[in-house]
Amino acid sequence: MMFLKQAVPVLSFCSGSIKHGQLTVDVLRLDLLHPEISGNKWYKLKHNILEAQSRGINTVLSFGGAWSNHIHALAAAGKHFGFKTIGVIRGERPKQPSAMLQDVERWGMQLVYVSRYDYRKRYEPEYHQELLEQLSLQNNEVWIVPEGGSGELGVKGCEEILESGSIDPADYDQIWLAAGTGATAAGVIRSVNNRSHVKVVPVLKGAAFMEADINQYLDASLTNWSLDLEGHCGGYGKTTPELLQFITETEEESGLPLDQVYTGKMLLAFKKAVEAGQVAEGCRVLLIHTGGLQGRRGLKI
Ligand SMILES: *Cc1c(COP(=O)(O)O)cnc(C)c1O
Repeated sequence: MMFLKQAVPVLSFCSGSIKHGQLTVDVLRLDLLHPEISGNKWYKLKHNILEAQSRGINTVLSFGGAWSNHIHALAAAGKHFGFKTIGVIRGERPKQPSAMLQDVERWGMQLVYVSRYDYRKRYEPEYHQELLEQLSLQNNEVWIVPEGGSGELGVKGCEEILESGSIDPADYDQIWLAAGTGATAAGVIRSVNNRSHVKVVPVLKGAAFMEADINQYLDASLTNWSLDLEGHCGGYGKTTPELLQFITETEEESGLPLDQVYTGKMLLAFKKAVEAGQVAEGCRVLLIHTGGLQGRRGLKI
C-alpha cells in the first residue's frame, strides 16, 4: 500500500492568482493507495474485514449502485485477501453492465440485483434475514457491511487516514474532504482532534442533516469542523458543465485526476472558497483525495 502527500503548486487558482498572499496546498492522494482497493473505501472496510475474520466468517456482503466505489473496493479486497464477497445491487441487471459491475464479477463477487423498492430496506435486519435465506446462507456465515461502508467500524478505520499518510493535522489550518454519508469525515475529525479545521463538502443537495449524522460519531468536544452546503453541483451523481470543465482543466494543469461524484466537487468548492476570499492569507490547506476514480468511467460527456 503506497501513500503520497503531494504538493500541488500548479493548481492555478492557488498560485499567483491569490490577491492576499500565497496558500500552501497539499493533496493526500488516497487514490494512489492501491490500484484496485481505492481511497477512503479501504479504511472503511478494514475493520469490517478484521471483525469478520476474528469471527471466522469468510463472506462479506454489502450494498451499492451500479457505479459504487464501495462495492468495487469490497470485491477487490475479497480477491486480494481471499474472502468471498456478495454485492447487493440496486436495480435490475443492466443489459450492458457498467465497467464497475464487470470488474467485480471478474474478481469473483456474487451479485444479487434487487428492485429499488427492496433496496430501500437495506438497513432492516428482517430484510437481511430474507436475503440470507434467498442465498441459502446462515446468519453466522456472512458479515454484513452497511452501504458505503459507513457505521462505527468504518469510522474507526477512517481515523487512521491522516496517520497512515504521515500527516500531522497541526501542520494545516484547514483539511478539506468530500462526504457522502459523512463517515469518512467523522473518522478524520476524530483523529484531527480540533488541531485543524475540517471542511466537509457533502456531494448531496440539502445535506444539512449530515451535521447530526457526523455528530453521532463524535465526542461533544470535537467542534472544529463545518459543512460546505453549496458544493453539491445539483445533487448526488449530478454534474454541471462548470464541474466537468473544472475536472478537465485541473487534470491538464496539474496532472491531478478527479472524479465527478466526490473529489471534483470538493476541489471546486475549495476553489470557490479561495476565489470568494474565504481562505485566509497564508493558510495551509490539506485536500484529501478520497479516490473513486473508477467511477469516472461512468461519465458521459
Ligand atoms: C464514498 C466516497 C466518499 C464519501 O465517503 P463517506 O464516508 O460516505 O462520506 C468520498 N469520496 C470518494 C471518492 C468516495 O468513493
